[in-house]
Amino acid sequence: MTGRVYLSPPDVGAAERAALIDTFDSNWVTSEGVHIGGFEDDVREVLGARRAVGVSSGTAALHLCLHVLGVGPGDVVMLPSFTFAATANAVAYVGARPLLVDSSPDTWTIDPVLVADEVKRRAGTPDAVRALLPVDIYGQCCDYDELLAVCADHDVRVVEDAAEALGATYRNRAAGTFGDAGVISFNGNKILTSGSGGMVVTEDDALADRIRHLSTQARDPAAHYEHSEVGFNYRMNNLLAAMGRAQLARLDERVAAKRRVFDRYADGFADVDGLELMPEAPYGSANRWLTCVLVDPDRFGATASDVRLRLEELDIESRPTWKPMHLQPVHAGTQMVGGAVCEDLFRRGLCLPSGSALTEEQQRRVIDAVVGVPRRRR
Ligand SMILES: *Cc1c(COP(=O)(O)O)cnc(C)c1O
Repeated sequence: MTGRVYLSPPDVGAAERAALIDTFDSNWVTSEGVHIGGFEDDVREVLGARRAVGVSSGTAALHLCLHVLGVGPGDVVMLPSFTFAATANAVAYVGARPLLVDSSPDTWTIDPVLVADEVKRRAGTPDAVRALLPVDIYGQCCDYDELLAVCADHDVRVVEDAAEALGATYRNRAAGTFGDAGVISFNGNKILTSGSGGMVVTEDDALADRIRHLSTQARDPAAHYEHSEVGFNYRMNNLLAAMGRAQLARLDERVAAKRRVFDRYADGFADVDGLELMPEAPYGSANRWLTCVLVDPDRFGATASDVRLRLEELDIESRPTWKPMHLQPVHAGTQMVGGAVCEDLFRRGLCLPSGSALTEEQQRRVIDAVVGVPRRRR
């Protein structure tokens, strides 16, 4: 035994340490400094995007995007039920009404047919859809050709929640670059991390400028503190940006490592009945942020929860897939379109250790433990 195996721990090393110490020594330990702009430039270049604005978190980025796009009280905002709470929280922050949508079983992302039907059905009514927050879940892009076409036809604003998807692509275009704006997260458990942080990515200069302005307390140019609107303290920190830049330099390597982890699980479970890994959509390349498995209790002989508890006994961290928002107490009574697919993904789903630094030996332990669960229960 060689210590606890974590789900997706930060993978940081000498380059990140040096960047942090350099920045510390420069005394630019603040929300200004060369690394914020540098990190924004690096992200623009990697994603092929026109603008990027560094903020304090992916959640802050989502909030600012909705706010700046004019989404406000009473507006209907569509989002997948199968996501992390932050997506839905951003809708609540602007006082809008969430409209939760089921996932497609083929991609686990928001079902584009349900979205199109609902957008058309509500068009021209007081409940018309104002904005869509598609989520690139576990690092797999949504079907953007379908989603963006119907949104363009019905004047629906789109903010891509690519928090989990840095390094993924859709038809060879980078995750984060779809819609009016895209959001990336550098939280500690994501594919790259700066400890915490986020980025808004957009082709729209005016939108980027507004977000940048509002993220720094909406301070107007003047020697004194002058404010003509309500702002936010949401700017990225220079110390963390320095670390983020060191991380970003290794994005391709990280995606390759995550995909290798997935492939090893696929090999390990190939002959096991009742274990099914998250499918990859033919339209793109997922970053495989987390490898997720669906456990069919009848065929496998144990439930996802049995697997999780057994892994925990062996000091291996795993986690149920996202609990859908429509099943969360905080969103009780929220409108939901469909729901059977994401409920099933939650009931049968488990996220397995997927760190980019996971060793083959550690992963062997995980695979052997998973495969051995039904035998132990007999
Ligand atoms: C992590 C995450 C966020 C929030 O990002 P933070 O940087 O942690 O605020 C938003 N949406 C999804 C889908 C996420 O996984």
